[in-house]
Amino acid sequence: MYQQLIIKSGRERSIYNRHPWLFSGAVKQLPNAGEGDIVQVCSNHGDVLAYGFYSSANQIVCRMFEFNTDATFVADATYWYQKVQHAFELREKYVLNTETNAYRLLHAEGDFLPGIICDVYNSIASVQILVKGTQLIQDILLNAIMDIAGVKHIYLKTKKSSKVIEQVSASTDWINPPEKVKTIVKEHGLQFFVDVEKGQKTGFFIDQRENRRLLQQFCSGKKILNTFSYTGGFSAYALAGGASLVHSVDISKEACQLCDENIRLNFPSLNKHQSFAADCFDYIKTADTDYDIIILDPPAFAKNARAVDNAARGYKELNMAAIKKIKAGGLIFTFSCSQNIDRDLFRKIVFSAAADARRNVRILYQFTQPADHPVNIFHPEGEYLKGLLLEVE
Ligand code: SAH
Repeated sequence: MYQQLIIKSGRERSIYNRHPWLFSGAVKQLPNAGEGDIVQVCSNHGDVLAYGFYSSANQIVCRMFEFNTDATFVADATYWYQKVQHAFELREKYVLNTETNAYRLLHAEGDFLPGIICDVYNSIASVQILVKGTQLIQDILLNAIMDIAGVKHIYLKTKKSSKVIEQVSASTDWINPPEKVKTIVKEHGLQFFVDVEKGQKTGFFIDQRENRRLLQQFCSGKKILNTFSYTGGFSAYALAGGASLVHSVDISKEACQLCDENIRLNFPSLNKHQSFAADCFDYIKTADTDYDIIILDPPAFAKNARAVDNAARGYKELNMAAIKKIKAGGLIFTFSCSQNIDRDLFRKIVFSAAADARRNVRILYQFTQPADHPVNIFHPEGEYLKGLLLEVE
């Protein structure tokens, strides 16, 4: 039996609508429970509505994972195992094949499993645990990941990303460390080095997989500028699509080296690619090449709600510079992965960049995240990646 958290009368709507977050303002009576414990969420009349992880330290006081009105429900090891199993089945059906083996196995609320992200690269999984409740059942989840996805080594990124979570022990970075951390994954037949220890986020941006493939179709004979290039994902696809020239720009020298390595891995004798370690804002404004296609895939400028205004200015400046720069009839692949900038706001920002650049711009295509980053329809906040394909007259 779980402790009860009782909500105020009239605050049931969002729970009926299965939104997984319960904010502190909706609570009538807090449970007598520890940080991260599973609690039973009840209405003011005593009806059971849902089950979730309790967090007294957070504005989101409960992260619900089960909308079950059965008062005897228990989240046992089998229950968690099945969640991972369902997540894996979705990837098996819609993502994994002989040409693609890097994938997101667990996408938090998108897999009805709050507080955990898991990306799989061959026998290595990179796991981020984001809430205390998930940390308390971590052993069950990690065992399930190993068992179901054939993972042998797990890299835990927990301690660097969260204040709420205590570190269990200093040596928990790796569960069964591999002999070689760096591995090679396949994405639509192209190959990429992934280093989960040194890399950003979980080592590779898997979420652009389908958008990169679309880029490939438009590149034959074209000159491409890939800004914020990191591992060179878009650059490799551009070369695979027959680009005549690809420039990759990233402020980090290490990222440029990684990009060069990936290009050599796929195209050992091709001489059409060059990397530049530079600030993309300056580079676009001063570059003297007449690019046919520009890719803008910056890091999340708005890390929280307070940063939205500054971020909007950053996105606008960047998009305006690209719209001014691009050749007539050229294409811009522009993205935002900021959760706090939604699809509509991003489009307004690009609109205002186009207006100030004083050129005609049309949207040819709208981008989002792929099937292994599913969006729980009751949790629109989970849709973080958005992008537009612009044609500039
Ligand atoms: N497009 C990439 C992911 C980009 S991640 C992909 O498909 O995998 C963001 C990258 O932007 C990082 O590599 C970071 O080093 C780089 N970066 C951040 N600020 C920058 C700036 N002002 N100019 C150039 N690169 C920048």
